[in-house]
Amino acid sequence: MVDLAAVRDNVRALADLAPSSEVMAVVKADAYGHGLVATALGALAGGATWLGTAQPGEALALRAAGVGPDRARVLTWLYPPGAPLRELVEADVDVSLAARWAVDEVVAAARAAGRTARVHLAVDTGLGRNGIMPADLPDVLDAVARAEAEGAVRVVGMWSHLAFADEPGHPTVVAQADVFDEAVRDAARAGVVPELRHLANSAATLTAPRTHYDLVRPGLAAYGMTPVPQLGPPSRFGLRPAMTLEARLATVKRVPGGHGVSYSHHYTTPQDTTLGVVPLGYG
Ligand SMILES: *Cc1c(COP(=O)(O)O)cnc(C)c1O
Repeated sequence: MVDLAAVRDNVRALADLAPSSEVMAVVKADAYGHGLVATALGALAGGATWLGTAQPGEALALRAAGVGPDRARVLTWLYPPGAPLRELVEADVDVSLAARWAVDEVVAAARAAGRTARVHLAVDTGLGRNGIMPADLPDVLDAVARAEAEGAVRVVGMWSHLAFADEPGHPTVVAQADVFDEAVRDAARAGVVPELRHLANSAATLTAPRTHYDLVRPGLAAYGMTPVPQLGPPSRFGLRPAMTLEARLATVKRVPGGHGVSYSHHYTTPQDTTLGVVPLGYG
């Protein structure tokens, strides 16, 4: 069962924690299994103005379900060459640019669509995953500045992703923010000025105001879970889990102490015990 009012209230709480930033609810992977469209609507009701999906298909699914640009900006960030960029541009979905080839493909898609593509430059500030290495940034900025002058793209955002935000106070958090700031300055020198800078996931939204910038991108916390359980339960941050898993027991039986339970006997009953079998698993 998914409690959409919890999603709404969690997003509201997160917006309060980052009062000068907009909130992008990350709804990738079917909203972390909570159901893409319904959860997105719950997040918008809580004040999110942006929705984020890893894969382009989910961004298009949101638009197809009637979540139009008047209701939410949508950003998608993980795609290989040959992704449906023209469709994304036509659906008014913002796309991340994490490599030079992506600039060329987005420019081609924008020309084909006869519209300006809204783009966010992804910088690898230390996660070592998707994103442009600072050393490669000048070349990409050069191409982006030309594309912007031509009207093919508009640089809406510059962004990055943190590696250790779930370890509050980890020195890489501030170090990544510093690298990010430098990248934003490099962009400005190249004539590329994003409207929005964004860096914070849930953990950083909860614990690192330095990373809030213009927009925060919580996923886990919007669903009412905490990525920093060492700091206390979700309620400490005004969050409550949106998902409840319920099942009727398929079997209930008494077993003696010392009884191994299930594969490899990872659990052994310490004493006479009642076991219940919950009928779910691989699915
Ligand atoms: C998944 C994801 C998030 C949200 O992460 P949480 O830890 O669930 O808050 C934010 N930004 C990007 C780029 C992501 O991929």
